[in-house]
Amino acid sequence: MRFSGKRAVVTGGASGIGRATALRLAEEGAEVWIGDIDEAGGQELAGTSNGKIHFQRCDVMQAEDIRALMEAPGELDVLFNNAGAGGAPDKIDEISPEDWDRTQSLLLRSVALGIRYAAPLMAKRGGGAIVNTSSVSALGTGYAPTAYSTAKAGVLHLSKMAAADLAKHSIRVNAVIPGFITTNIFTRHLEVPAEMLDRANQVIAHVAAGAQPVKRAGRPEDIAAAVSFLLSDDAAFVTGTHLVVDGGITIGTRQSW
Ligand code: NAD
Repeated sequence: MRFSGKRAVVTGGASGIGRATALRLAEEGAEVWIGDIDEAGGQELAGTSNGKIHFQRCDVMQAEDIRALMEAPGELDVLFNNAGAGGAPDKIDEISPEDWDRTQSLLLRSVALGIRYAAPLMAKRGGGAIVNTSSVSALGTGYAPTAYSTAKAGVLHLSKMAAADLAKHSIRVNAVIPGFITTNIFTRHLEVPAEMLDRANQVIAHVAAGAQPVKRAGRPEDIAAAVSFLLSDDAAFVTGTHLVVDGGITIGTRQSW
């Protein structure tokens, strides 16, 4: 019960990594507000975990939505800036200015504004903890559209700068770097029928099993466990860094495995 008496916000909490983390934080005692554009998914989760999970519609591309979400719990101790979607495959010599801005807004500006609006609320509480979702693509590994992976690399640096800026308020800021995790992200932007998601995730599992030392695809719960560590007082001396949770894929691929 590491989050007993704490209030948390999770963006992108209606699905995948955010959903698993919201459930984990609630299991460990937190009152959790999830923000998402997926109202059906959010409403489905709301009220679960003994009524500890609440949903508020939030588009993280809208500054006022982010501010309202941070203020929803009344008081705020813990924030997981996680909402995102896979970018369409792109190359720097092909991308449009509009697609570039959209991706940076969804994945990087959203995190900056989440921290911006959460920090004063946490400072009022005497401190807090923030985790931001990056990606192995920030390290040059894996499925990596250029605009997406650039934004995710920005999340790593932003986490360090914010950790330095906010230490005076006893607010810790870290990033998590997921590897291949079985969620809806790889297919969501393609708007494929729901029945195809299973097939896509089978392919991801297959790729992961071949290319990484831990021979299985990652699960949202693998990331939730790491995030809840970083958000908890167990990580009281950890700030301005990141935790890679990728089954070892960033070691590189070697046939001898
Ligand atoms: P997911 O699609 O299952 O969940 C993402 C959630 O974010 C969804 O509920 C979606 O509705 C929400 N979302 C999308 N756009 C939003 C917006 N504008 N405002 C609010 N909510 C929005 O995918 P996931 O894999 O759980 O992704 C979570 C995070 O993890 C993302 O930031 C993603 O880039 C990152 N990530 C995922 C993987 C992976 O392998 N799945 C790997 C590295 C990083």
